[in-house]
Amino acid sequence: MISALEALQRLRDGNGRFESDVRSPGTLTSQTRRRELAAGQEPFAIILGCSDSRVPAEIVFDQGLGDLFVIRVAGNIVAPSQVGSVEFAAGRFGTRLVVVLGHSKCGAILATLEELGRPSEDQSRNLRSIVDRIRPSVEPLLGTELGHDRDALVRQAVRANIRASANHLRHGSQVLEQLIEKDGLLVVGAEYSLETGVVHFFDGVQDAG
Ligand SMILES: [Zn+2]
Repeated sequence: MISALEALQRLRDGNGRFESDVRSPGTLTSQTRRRELAAGQEPFAIILGCSDSRVPAEIVFDQGLGDLFVIRVAGNIVAPSQVGSVEFAAGRFGTRLVVVLGHSKCGAILATLEELGRPSEDQSRNLRSIVDRIRPSVEPLLGTELGHDRDALVRQAVRANIRASANHLRHGSQVLEQLIEKDGLLVVGAEYSLETGVVHFFDGVQDAG
């Protein structure tokens, strides 16, 4: 299995190809590759991304069959089943990179801001369970000067939510903590721009490219 930093570079390179519209040839999704993978997988990165139809991880990182272990949920939130999925992939396949991939203008963040501004009584319990996970990272921003600048507020709320999810994965699981301490597992946040197609990685991760 490649290291976390090599995996990160592979994602950066793939996003560069996507963003400049020079995609890999169809070999990544070929039937030959499918047959090879039937015996087993070794995905080099785990992506916890938003369900938004405009941010499919395999496409924005220009990857093919067997490359990415992807978990998608509205607002890229972390609930127990997401933690379990990451534990499973990191433990079973030896994957060393986890990316929490949020994006600009995320609908789940907008819904949370709306709910904080004007709580609705009839919101479904299931939808509320998503909003409730986003709320703690977004709510503190409302009391700052961002409260008067809607666009800036949304931008910062998206980033705060990505950081919160990444921190939850880093500290909300003994299995993952062990893998981080002893086996070089890296959890990074990243934001995809709907406007430019570029993925920006957070947390002071060095740009090796
Ligand atoms: Zn979203």
